[in-house]
Amino acid sequence: MRSWKYGAAKRGCALAAAKTICSGANPSGELTLPEALVKTIEHFVPEFWAALSRVKDPRHPLLIEYPLQQELLVAVLMFMVKVGSRRNIKYKLGSPAFVATLKCLMERYYPDVAFPDALFHGDTLNYVLKRVSPLETHGLRTLVIRSLLRKRCLEAFRLKGLYYPVAVDGTGALVFRSKHCDHCLTKTSNEQTLYYHPVVEAKLALENGLALSVGTEFVQNERADVKKQDCELKAFYRLAKVLKQDFPIVKVCLLLDALFACKPVLTVCRRNRWGYIVTFKEGSLPEVWREYQALKGLTPENVLIVNREGCRQTFRWINDIDFDGMTVNAFECLEETAAGTTPFVWLTGFRVDAGNVEELSRRGGRQRWKIENEGFNTQKNGGYGLEHAFSENNVAQKNFYLLMQIGHIFNQLMEKGSLLRERIRATMGSLAVFSQKMWAALTETVIDAARLRWILGTRIQIRFESG
Ligand SMILES: [Zn+2]
Repeated sequence: MRSWKYGAAKRGCALAAAKTICSGANPSGELTLPEALVKTIEHFVPEFWAALSRVKDPRHPLLIEYPLQQELLVAVLMFMVKVGSRRNIKYKLGSPAFVATLKCLMERYYPDVAFPDALFHGDTLNYVLKRVSPLETHGLRTLVIRSLLRKRCLEAFRLKGLYYPVAVDGTGALVFRSKHCDHCLTKTSNEQTLYYHPVVEAKLALENGLALSVGTEFVQNERADVKKQDCELKAFYRLAKVLKQDFPIVKVCLLLDALFACKPVLTVCRRNRWGYIVTFKEGSLPEVWREYQALKGLTPENVLIVNREGCRQTFRWINDIDFDGMTVNAFECLEETAAGTTPFVWLTGFRVDAGNVEELSRRGGRQRWKIENEGFNTQKNGGYGLEHAFSENNVAQKNFYLLMQIGHIFNQLMEKGSLLRERIRATMGSLAVFSQKMWAALTETVIDAARLRWILGTRIQIRFESG
């Protein structure tokens, strides 16, 4: 990826310089990628722009050089185009065209606010994100998801026609070789201590490949001298409470790893009226496993075989198994392909039968891995920088993390939405190329305000492919 030489886009000359490289309206009439981005946000989250301006600015009004809306938008964009570090805001986004496009958007959405003709330094963003409450950026992400749910555009992917599948899992985010802050978790092996900051995430995990962040709990110690460290399980209970507060009436089915196969977790699910599908492993629940295997032998009629091209799936299930005084159900999918045989087994609160076992597996249990692949793996290895310390400050790092989730959501809405999906497949091939082209478009051409107004005034439907 080449780097911009416009790094120090000088105040005052940025707009004039930008005009010299502005392509104006796209002659083919096809939306430019920045236009498609704004259209996508307007379509799915029309309240986003107003929400940006509601974020509480902790700075003294006299000391505000760059309005907060501008800083937050750039932070989301820097994740979308994967600049890699806050320092690269200057080197990879500081082109006159980007500054002019940014100003055009700011003037469109915030006509009463004065915006400078320049881009701030990454340290300026760090300064403000150290002071903005992460509850604010959390609230922005919640607003994005609520808007998607309200628009009912993800309903086709619900389980049993009712439950949104939400995978919950933890992952390592930051690791340091020396003490980083009083909140670090520590792990010592071979006389070496690592200091780390994991997160527990909740993501809508949908059959069409979307993995949209809906909840985040940072796993961290309250103080440096705690006797018992924070852990993923404790973080789960905090996450569940916030998730219920944020989405009180949304029907949710949690997709969980075997780590969460315990009575207190399932009790939380029941209390919140959530469905659950939990990976069931012999090692984690040996007694329940033995009962399941014994009952399975006694009910050979509980079987469904589905043959697909190159793949044979055998489903089996048992209802009403005793689990520490609770009644749970279990089901499995044995998948046979040329590559071998893979068993998947789950516990669930749903009653299982021949009519729903395939769907519970396909749209439920099997979607759990999306949080790993489309979620964590993409954010770690796909340029988002999940494991990069965007700030040494704990508060700013949380804000960067949450803004990264918003950037990733917007990218996915474009990648999977009908506005760009075919174009990305046909002309870009990979999502890495898409991000690179978005970066090039944002930094090389100026968005045309009149054309954008026309595009945003045109009604269109952006749909997702089912399955
Ligand atoms: Zn730390």
